[in-house]
Amino acid sequence: MALSMRKAINAKCKDCIYDPKSGLGTWRQQVEGCTSTNCALYPLRPVSKKEPKR
Ligand code: SF4
Repeated sequence: MALSMRKAINAKCKDCIYDPKSGLGTWRQQVEGCTSTNCALYPLRPVSKKEPKR
């Protein structure tokens, strides 16, 4: 079965931002913390329903 769009976006964001050695959390936390608002995938990136406290 083809990769779903959700999985494809998740995989792209993970590949783009995740650094397991950075100590900045899981790939999801790092994607959530992405600040590239001009990226086409920014509004579609996987985030939890509640915005994390900053
Ligand atoms: S939204 Fe952020 S993490 Fe996802 S592809 Fe764009 S720049 Fe990378």
